[in-house]
Amino acid sequence: MVDFRFSPEQEQFRETIRRFAQSELAPRYREGDVTKQFPRQQMEAMAGLGLTGLRIPEAFGGSLQPCVVSGIAGEEIGRADFNCGYFVEQNAFLGDLLSRFASPRLQERYLPGMADGSEIMGIALTEPSAGSDAASLSTRAVREGDDYVLSGEKTSITFAGSMDNCIVFAKTDPEAGARGVSAFVVGCNLPGASCTVLPSIGSKCLLRGTLSMDQVRVPRDHLIGDEGQGFRMIMAGFDYARAVIALMCLGAAAQSLDETIAYVKEREAFGRPIAKFEGVQFPIAEAHTMLEAARWLCYQCLWRKDEGLPHTKEAAMCKWWGPKLAVETIHQCLLLHGHYGYVDDMPFDQRLRDVMGLEIGDGTAQIQKIVIARELMGREVLPYR
Ligand SMILES: Cc1cc2nc3c(=O)[nH]c(=O)nc-3n(C[C@H](O)[C@H](O)[C@H](O)COP(=O)(O)OP(=O)(O)OC[C@H]3O[C@@H](n4cnc5c(N)ncnc54)[C@H](O)[C@@H]3O)c2cc1C
Repeated sequence: MVDFRFSPEQEQFRETIRRFAQSELAPRYREGDVTKQFPRQQMEAMAGLGLTGLRIPEAFGGSLQPCVVSGIAGEEIGRADFNCGYFVEQNAFLGDLLSRFASPRLQERYLPGMADGSEIMGIALTEPSAGSDAASLSTRAVREGDDYVLSGEKTSITFAGSMDNCIVFAKTDPEAGARGVSAFVVGCNLPGASCTVLPSIGSKCLLRGTLSMDQVRVPRDHLIGDEGQGFRMIMAGFDYARAVIALMCLGAAAQSLDETIAYVKEREAFGRPIAKFEGVQFPIAEAHTMLEAARWLCYQCLWRKDEGLPHTKEAAMCKWWGPKLAVETIHQCLLLHGHYGYVDDMPFDQRLRDVMGLEIGDGTAQIQKIVIARELMGREVLPYR
C-alpha cells in the first residue's frame, strides 16, 4: 500500500508549528543576522512546544516522535527562521545518539536539559586538518585511571559560542583508523577546555566556532557506548539528520517561493502583472516541481528510518540535493523581485547565506555522492580503498 498523506495528528502538528513559527520566530529571523546574538528566547519557546525533545524518550522529558515528525518540524521552522531549525535537527540527532548508545547515568544527566532547552549540546567532529576525511582525527583520548584525558583542536562546531556540553569524537586507538574513534560528552567549562567563535558569512547567531582541549579530564563513564564505536554512531546519526537538514533548507526555499508568488501577482511591468509572463511563470513552476520532488524524497527517507528500512543512500541523496536546490530557488526568488530583492531588509540574502552553510555542514555534496555511489556499486568503488 502506498499512502502519501500525513496522519491527521501530523497535519495538526504541522499547522500548530507553522502558526507558532510564523508568529513567534519569523519576525526575529533578521535580528540574529544583525546582532549575532544566540536566539536563546526562541529556543526556549521551541522547547516549551516540545521541539527540542522530539527524539528524546518521555522518561527524560522528551516525546520520542517518529522521525517524520522531526522532518515536519524542521521544514516548518526552516520556513520561518532557518537558524532555529538547527535546534530541532541537532537535538534530534544527538538525542537519538545518546538514547541509543549512552549509559543510563549519562542519559539521566544530559537528556532532560536538552529536552527542556536549559542546556545546549554541540557536536565536535571536524578538526582543522580533518573534515570530509572524518576518520583521520588527531584529537586523542587517553585512559588514565577512572578518567579519560582529551587533547586536541576541534573546529566549525555549531553553537560553539553558547554550548554547555559537547559530544567530542577522539581517537582512543590512533593506529586503528575509523575503528579507533570514540565519542565522549565533554563539559565546555572543564579545566583545559576553551571555545572561540569563528565569524561566519551566514547563520551568524549560531556562533559556530572552535573547542580547544588541553588535557581535559572527563570521567570514564562519559564515554558513549564502547571504545571504537564513535565513527559508526555518528554515521548512523547522519543518515537520519541529513533528511531533516534538507527539509529545513527546502522550507526556507518554499517560503521564498510563496513570497515570490504573491509579489509577481502584484508587481506590474509593461502594463500587466509580471506573473502573466512565461519568463516569470516557468521558473516558479520549475522550482515548485523540484521542491515537491525533493521534499518527498526527504519524507521517504525519514519514513524508511521509522520503518527500520535501509536509508543511507536516500539520506545522502537528500543532503546533496536539498540544500543545493534551496540555494538555487532562493536565488531565483531574489531575481524575480528585481532590485527590491537585492535590498538587505528582504530575507533573500540572509536565507542564501544561511542555507549555503548546509551545503557544507554535515558533509559536502561530493561526499554524499561518494556515499550514493558506494551504496549503488559497492565498497570497491570507494576512492580511498
Ligand atoms: C554551517 C556549518 C555548520 C557546521 N557544523 C558542524 C558541527 O556542528 N560540528 C562539526 O564537527 N563540524 C561542523 N561543520 C563542519 C563540516 O562538517 C565540514 O566543514 C565538512 O565535513 C567538510 O569538511 P572540510 O570543511 O574540512 O572540507 P574538506 O574536507 O577540506 O573538503 C574541501 C573540498 O574538497 C572536497 N573533497 C574532499 N574530499 C573529497 C573527495 N574524496 N572527493 C571529492 N571531493 C572531495 C569537499 O567536498 C570540499 O568541496 C559545519 C560546517 C558548516 C559550514
